[in-house]
Amino acid sequence: MPALRLRGKILWQSPASVGDSPYVVKPSPSGKDTLVRPLKNPTWVQGDFLIENGRIYQVPATGSADVEGWILPGLVDVHCHIGIKMGGFATGAEMLEQARENHRSGTLLVRDCGSPNDNSHVANHPDTLRLVRAGRHLAKPKRYIQGSALELATDAQLPAAMVAQARAGDGWVKLVGDWIDRSDGTSSDLKPLWDRQALADGVAAVHEIGGRVTVHTFARATIDSLLAAQVDCIEHGTGMSAEQINEAARLGIAITPTLLQVGLFNQFAAAAGKKYPVYAEHMLALQAGHKRVLENFVDSGVRLLPGTDAGGFQPHGQLPAEMLRWKEMGFSNQQIIDMTTWQARDYLGFASLSEGAVADLVVYERNPVEDLSILATPKFVHLGQVSDESA
Ligand SMILES: [Zn+2]
Repeated sequence: MPALRLRGKILWQSPASVGDSPYVVKPSPSGKDTLVRPLKNPTWVQGDFLIENGRIYQVPATGSADVEGWILPGLVDVHCHIGIKMGGFATGAEMLEQARENHRSGTLLVRDCGSPNDNSHVANHPDTLRLVRAGRHLAKPKRYIQGSALELATDAQLPAAMVAQARAGDGWVKLVGDWIDRSDGTSSDLKPLWDRQALADGVAAVHEIGGRVTVHTFARATIDSLLAAQVDCIEHGTGMSAEQINEAARLGIAITPTLLQVGLFNQFAAAAGKKYPVYAEHMLALQAGHKRVLENFVDSGVRLLPGTDAGGFQPHGQLPAEMLRWKEMGFSNQQIIDMTTWQARDYLGFASLSEGAVADLVVYERNPVEDLSILATPKFVHLGQVSDESA
């Protein structure tokens, strides 16, 4: 690959002399691009940059540039399902196309949040993305999208199954924390799946081998046992009370608020219809209360992660649209950019743009800090292809 010259303003990280990130994690088994040295928070830097052998370097400005614009580290979607499509499961070729859709949107790092089939083949191609896999969802029989999860008959099976999935993927485990329990006829509602002790044992076992756990949850009744077990991350969290959110913040538990997905709760309620009126009411109430929950997320200072829930009901490549929705939480454009680029990369253990870093970046025609909507139309997307793997 010939060297490529970029010119413009870049969200750039310089090596720090002191300090460390609290979010640096051990390298994932497949991730070679982990943060290896403490860095200062990125700032916008004007200049010329060279991409050579997949890595980026700041260089003196001479001659012409191949690409000019506003340059961000690759965007991150921590809640994406490569392998799930509307109404079913994707083939290997369809998974590759899903990864490409994310790439075209500037999303270059994905924590796959559960997939029924191995999707590792989509990672690291020039037109795809970096992938951190969570293996398969863990649920109980009839308590998740049919055929999607590994279904455990008993709570006692949970800890060993969690460890197995942490090992099968890249260290992350995805639990279904609550789901409609259709065994209760017309009074069926969202209910927690797991026994409190089994959850605590499972999380401890995963932490023991250096893995992390995230949990799908809509309902308030699920949350206390997740906090007690000290899971690492909560998906959706629509039922969380202010007290529970404050406790999550205190414990360092991150939350993925998935605003686009919660926007569909009225559709889920309508689909449940008259057959499950209690569940339908519950979903509508969660949607109606979501504004308040989001306010509490912001007030608590809990760490928020960007996620679209792409796969089942959301198309892939919607992260720029999710980022626009985050303005509803009162964040500035710069805060949203920080949270969905370098901060989320840091959380997953991946470097951002700094001298010699792998050149995973997106270029925009206009300044995204002034107009976040430009994120929907990147002018250039680049996933660094490093042949020598030495850091
Ligand atoms: Zn999901």
